[in-house]
Amino acid sequence: MTATPPTNFDQLGLKPELNAALAELGYEEPTPIQSQAIPAMLEGRDVLAQAATGTGKTAAFALPLLHRLGKSKAGPFEARIVVVGPTRELAMQVAEAMKRYGQRLGVSVLAVYGGQEMSRQIGPLKRGVDVVVATPGRALDHIRRKTLKLGSVEAVVLDEADEMLDLGFAEDLETILNELPEKRQAALFSATLPSRIAALAENHLKNPVRVKIAQEVA
Ligand code: AMP
Repeated sequence: MTATPPTNFDQLGLKPELNAALAELGYEEPTPIQSQAIPAMLEGRDVLAQAATGTGKTAAFALPLLHRLGKSKAGPFEARIVVVGPTRELAMQVAEAMKRYGQRLGVSVLAVYGGQEMSRQIGPLKRGVDVVVATPGRALDHIRRKTLKLGSVEAVVLDEADEMLDLGFAEDLETILNELPEKRQAALFSATLPSRIAALAENHLKNPVRVKIAQEVA
């Protein structure tokens, strides 16, 4: 990692397709969480980040993971990046952001959440999806039905991890994480880091880079 966090997107060395998407969105410079988390994640490191909504946390994990995604396509019912978040709203929002960032790379993204008919999700899952953004309960439903296979996942993100624990998803998360390949990148983002989050990180992140940010995007 560089001693001074990068202050513009060019310094981060992201693929031109991603930089073009950022320019189109009008992002001029990385937010503090982005300039700290992106270099570490680009190196393939695990990251434990304390960051609230509004800090630019979504792009902080989405950009480096999309940059690192290889060219090979996911097979039927497979995914290559899995993001797990507490609510349907967050899943939809993160999926939308990842679609926008990844559009020029031809990345396929699917939000998978409770309350929507399984059949509407199974069709796209069957074709294989680069990025699945899911709520924990529905992710587990698909894993049990084998309509979501985690054997070739390259990276996992737990987004708003404290919220997921507050909603009672601890066991579901453990089950999901244990289904993932041993060799994969992991990032945990949480507004707060109580001991239960520290334990989750201890069990599922490998020597993570720690990032802590309080302020919101101006
Ligand atoms: P998040 O914390 O991920 O929910 O992001 C909060 C908002 O900030 C979203 O509307 C993003 O589109 C926006 N945002 C994220 N990164 C940047 C950036 N570097 N410059 C300007 N806006 C950003």
